[in-house]
Amino acid sequence: MMGLYVHIPFCRHKCIYCHFISGIPYNEERAERYIDFLLQEAKLYRFLYGHLHFHTLYLGGGTPSLLSERLLFRLVEGLSSLFTLEAEERTLEVNPEDVNEEHLTMWKKAGFTRLSLGFQAVQPELLAFLSRPLFDPDKTYEMVREKGFSKVSVDFIVGTPLLHTHKLLKWIRKHLPPHLSLYLLSCESGSTLAGLERQGLFSPPPEEFQAKQYLTLAKKLSCLYEWYEISNFSMGTQNRSLHNSLYWAYEPYIGLGIGASGFLSWKKFRYTNTIHLPLYERLLQKEHFPYGYEETLGEKTEKMEKLMLGLRTSEGIPLSTLKEWATEKGWQAFERTVQRLAPYLEYYEEKLILTPEGRMVANTLITELWCTLEPFL
Ligand code: SF4
Repeated sequence: MMGLYVHIPFCRHKCIYCHFISGIPYNEERAERYIDFLLQEAKLYRFLYGHLHFHTLYLGGGTPSLLSERLLFRLVEGLSSLFTLEAEERTLEVNPEDVNEEHLTMWKKAGFTRLSLGFQAVQPELLAFLSRPLFDPDKTYEMVREKGFSKVSVDFIVGTPLLHTHKLLKWIRKHLPPHLSLYLLSCESGSTLAGLERQGLFSPPPEEFQAKQYLTLAKKLSCLYEWYEISNFSMGTQNRSLHNSLYWAYEPYIGLGIGASGFLSWKKFRYTNTIHLPLYERLLQKEHFPYGYEETLGEKTEKMEKLMLGLRTSEGIPLSTLKEWATEKGWQAFERTVQRLAPYLEYYEEKLILTPEGRMVANTLITELWCTLEPFL
């Protein structure tokens, strides 16, 4: 299985919490030029690896739902002429203010089977704090479903005192979206919030508060949803994001566009494209891959990544894999660490998984486990 990710960096404005490669003001001419470069980049992969077969397509951003019909078709048709794109899961990230009858028809016609709706909140005061445009969550969601999109994911931001969890749960229980992504509000460098924090004008909510709010929601959702990855919930396995699951399962994917990442598993090669648009264009004009970072993974890095990605998911990591990696002494040391971290980790059906509390401190746990294991590999 292989995925194709395409990054569209245009937005109407930059939201205060956003640290993604995004926020480039949209105009038709600028977007057309960018799409021509995206197709140029795709041609390099075609030239090097032949007619690739992608099981999933994911248009993320930025705000891909800003693309006009002409440009969206130009992109999808251009990619389809170079590669085989399976119709099973083609996701488009959509901002609620772009949802209307005309756009929904266009996205369907362009072959998208799944919409990822960036709601972020259902409370007007929280939308205002997040610097997001106001919209009607009920009407927007109902319009999407009435248009026949059955695979729908909705994103929400959690971890702020302004969020009334009962209001969010009420909305979720009313509409029952088949997939949810819940992200903690963060102050990542590059975001406006991080700048405000530096100037002493904003204090991020304490981590303990955020974890408690997230866990409360996650536990209440657990009777309806499967919490299958740290930030993702689905109604049964059939509603999981196939595309994102490829990342966690260590399957290959290609990323096109500024800041996009890819993993060519057959040569253990990871890359992230440059985030600078002029450099991206210059490199492609010279027919070079626009990499800003590239790495061929050594054996140890590969194991570390598998541990990290596996533990993010409800699948965890098989004990047989861990035993295969470590010496007898290493396995004993590893087991002692697991016992020490017991409230956060557990063995389940011959696999090591994170408990719900463990998911809130996943990075610390993974570092501890890796530091125990690494000297014995
Ligand atoms: S949160 Fe979404 S819409 Fe807002 S700036 Fe970031 S990518 Fe653009």
